[in-house]
Amino acid sequence: MSLLVQKYGGTSVGSIEKIRDVAERVIEYHKDGSKMVVVLSAMSGQTDALIKLAHEMIVVPDSRELDVLMSTGEQVSVALFAMAVKSMGYDASSLLGFQVSIQTDHIYGKARIQEIETGRILKELEQNRIVAVAGFQGMDEHGNITTLGRGGSDTTAVALAAALNADVCEIFTDVDGVYTADPNVCPKARKLDAISYEEMLELSSAGAKVLEIRSVEFAKKFNVPIHVRSTFTKERGTMVVAETKDMEKVLVSGVALNKNEARITIKKVPDQPGIAAQIFEPVFQAGIVVDMIVQNTSEEGLTDLTFTVLKPDFLSTMKLVREVAKKIGAEKVLGDENIAKVSIVGVGMRTHAGVAQKMFWALAKENINIMMISTSEIKVSCVIEEKYKELAVRVLHEAFGLENDQSGK
Ligand code: ASP
Ligand code: MG
Repeated sequence: MSLLVQKYGGTSVGSIEKIRDVAERVIEYHKDGSKMVVVLSAMSGQTDALIKLAHEMIVVPDSRELDVLMSTGEQVSVALFAMAVKSMGYDASSLLGFQVSIQTDHIYGKARIQEIETGRILKELEQNRIVAVAGFQGMDEHGNITTLGRGGSDTTAVALAAALNADVCEIFTDVDGVYTADPNVCPKARKLDAISYEEMLELSSAGAKVLEIRSVEFAKKFNVPIHVRSTFTKERGTMVVAETKDMEKVLVSGVALNKNEARITIKKVPDQPGIAAQIFEPVFQAGIVVDMIVQNTSEEGLTDLTFTVLKPDFLSTMKLVREVAKKIGAEKVLGDENIAKVSIVGVGMRTHAGVAQKMFWALAKENINIMMISTSEIKVSCVIEEKYKELAVRVLHEAFGLENDQSGK
């Protein structure tokens, strides 16, 4: 008998009607003989509303209490869902994170799952019940409620699938799969049948927002196949799975766009040991994540250092870096928020040369200037002027022939 873990996101459970639809859908699988564990997000907009409420109470809410508050959104969804199932004549049981129990570390707001006990869920399943688990929440070793970070219900679902040794973890959402590019930007974008964990991780970190990145890390670690699909159709979506030989035949699987980074340049920094360490120390101390870093070769003992941070961190980083720049005798600090990062991702890059070159030519033909470049084994990213972002995605999509199904080529 198969065991399915399904996760329904906020828009899929956004109203009473939609929760009923989800219940009907889950009952169908149950009738077909699958044991069903269903992870739900809060109804759409609810988590934001709860956070707003906290900020109405106080500017900086206490992190423990904020988690207690935020976790209530998912409690509402699982309760309503279980009521719906029961009203349709089937049995269901809603469980919160601590009831399962989903053990996490104690980092409020972005706790990591450490262990999941499966006893309670298995017992409920044995009673022929549909089990609804609240996503996004867990409990630390002292019994405090924790949350896993925004979008964390994906991680709950994948972790449960791993712990229960489920056949597949199905993530039901408002898009019908993973696309070669954002269809809103690139009308020729095509839905992928399958994509590897590595590619999905790179696409997520490059700006594609289909799956929460930690859930993919989890899936990769425990080899859990993820099926990303739409709540509103019965069609097959995209499988996120371990890499296969076939995948390497395709040069590029997708193009991602990240509009949420800003660039900071420190001009004429002394080229000496310890300078980069000094510059980034206050930035790291402030918990600011730095993405790309580029340092030029030096001329007369001076060099330029450029890096990117997330836009919300731009102003505070500028302030920190200006202070260090003065201390180390750098010439000046320049900032630019009008940038975008376009990335191409594909495991085929490992075995094919010239992929980056093809990207550079494609951008050059449209007169798009590249400001920064970074590469990993399976990704090439270019920072460009923000106004060219959509053009760049379309041009790259075209250059790598992504509108055509290349599998098997
Ligand atoms: N409700 C949480 C959020 O909005 C978790 C989730 O939806 O996955 O971030
Ligand atoms: Mg969500």
